[in-house]
Amino acid sequence: MRFSDIESQEKTIDTLRKMVEGERIPHALLFTGPQGSGKTLLALAFANYILCTNKGQDKCGECAPCIKSNKLVHPDLNLVFPVIKKDGKVRAETTSSDFISEWREFIQGNPYGTLENWMHFLKSQTQPNINRKECTEIIKKMGLHSFESEYKIMFIWNAESLGREGNSLLKLIEEPPEKTVIILIAEKLDAVLGTIQSRCQIIHVGPLSDEAVHSHLDAYDIPNAQKQEIVHIAEGNMNAAIALLENTNETVSTEILEWFRIAYKNDPAQLVQWVNTMSTKGKPAQKRFLSYGLFFMKEYLKLLYTSDFSNARLSEEEKATAEKMARIIDVNKTEDIAELIEKNLAYLARNANSKIVFMEMSIQLERIMKLKTEQLIN
Ligand SMILES: [Zn+2]
Repeated sequence: MRFSDIESQEKTIDTLRKMVEGERIPHALLFTGPQGSGKTLLALAFANYILCTNKGQDKCGECAPCIKSNKLVHPDLNLVFPVIKKDGKVRAETTSSDFISEWREFIQGNPYGTLENWMHFLKSQTQPNINRKECTEIIKKMGLHSFESEYKIMFIWNAESLGREGNSLLKLIEEPPEKTVIILIAEKLDAVLGTIQSRCQIIHVGPLSDEAVHSHLDAYDIPNAQKQEIVHIAEGNMNAAIALLENTNETVSTEILEWFRIAYKNDPAQLVQWVNTMSTKGKPAQKRFLSYGLFFMKEYLKLLYTSDFSNARLSEEEKATAEKMARIIDVNKTEDIAELIEKNLAYLARNANSKIVFMEMSIQLERIMKLKTEQLIN
């Protein structure tokens, strides 16, 4: 990964480049920034630039160290990240080296990936962490000579996963051996041990601009209107944009119908379970769900007014869904539901607790659907 592969974050890149060129590389750096801002990419490009032996060439990428660091196989680029128990090993004995090929595949597939994505990649129910054995290994590795490069780098992804064991690294971070660099990555700065934070130079990485997200999406063959919708919802979070790309409208429309069904049935246990699942999805996916719900209700309303199903901007499957809904949800209810969704989208944007938002909304959705049905019957 090279700086020249990153289309945005020019100011941060400039700072990092100057550190290397001026040989003023801090012993320890902590890259932090919101999800999907590309902090891991930046940090990897920084490590790559330190190791590159052809620095005069702005876009090297061709020297042996560049090729190795690009593949994440450079022997002086030590990669540490939270892990789970490896099959056939006890957790206390498992370290990053047991999952190195998996992590390479994961981060190369999506360098914006989060700890949650990593868990999903590992198909794990338990949260990965960085254990005591790993910390001992870090200290041991950093005490050895470098193999091929002038510098030796310790790259610690998701530094929030360093629990109290992380305190064993303080001496290393404070007085590291010559020509070593420790690079930590964290989404939530306050979740990193204060003792570690205070010993690192903090590199703040801001969210991506809408333009940067948009230009990244150009690689995908999707209509411009959809691209704009994704950029709008993602709010500078490239990881969210990627998730939105993978989550097609078809899936969301099925999910919307499922929500209506659960709310209508009014089975508290099922509703609680649905709300719990929804609340773990993360804000971008939740907004996507509701934005799509709103879009669907508006298209549905047009259908109810015109009774012409051929004109709606809906897929065949969605039209079938709409026809089924027409039996219980009339014009008034549709307007009320659309209003309900719109109001709650605004709550989510203002960082309201998503569990409360989805629970309240579901209860009101049930009222809208039922109350008016009874009125119609009477
Ligand atoms: Zn190079």
